[in-house]
Amino acid sequence: MADANAISRVVMLGPPGSGKGTQAAFLSESLGVPAISTGDMLRQAVAAGSELGRKVEDIMASGALVDDDTMADVVRERLRQEDAVDGFLLDGYPRTLGQAETLEGILEDAGVQLDAVALIDVPEEELVRRALARKRADDKEDVIRERLRVYSEKTSPLIQHYRDLALLRPVNGHQSMEQVTSDLLSALGAAESGS
Ligand code: AMP
Repeated sequence: MADANAISRVVMLGPPGSGKGTQAAFLSESLGVPAISTGDMLRQAVAAGSELGRKVEDIMASGALVDDDTMADVVRERLRQEDAVDGFLLDGYPRTLGQAETLEGILEDAGVQLDAVALIDVPEEELVRRALARKRADDKEDVIRERLRVYSEKTSPLIQHYRDLALLRPVNGHQSMEQVTSDLLSALGAAESGS
């Protein structure tokens, strides 16, 4: 039976290049809940050439955000699936205050609540350094800059929103990957076994 006190519904927040996706995959194992990446879902839709994929392809390529209504449909549908009923780690959603409200509505309808929001904090200069260092041929520098700008304009207000709701668990992301994982686990009250 699921432990009623366990942290099982988590949002991962952090700028592009913070290592959020990698950490979500690690945490998913430890917490035993699926990591749900809306970016991965949209990339799959693009690869499949579905109606959704055709709608979001150019928007994604520009570094801009897909509109909130489209994302609401994607996330509502995904959270209804069996594997997400007892918990999830959302990676890449919400990204706007409107999306945060939508998520609150979806969870309210399901009679559940968010347990925590893990924030991977990385200084801006470090993000730019990382982005340029790992730049792929298809990652244009202006698209990288646009993603960082969109994060700071549209997504970073979520930090204060979740702080106000007493859900925010900030972790220093300017450390080794292993250290970030371990800090995230303790911030979520799910310290690694043996420690
Ligand atoms: P990600 O892999 O999370 O960086 O997402 C890649 C791209 O998918 C983003 O730059 C957006 O264009 C789009 N995307 C993913 N999640 C969202 C979301 N929650 N809201 C709007 N657009 C999104």
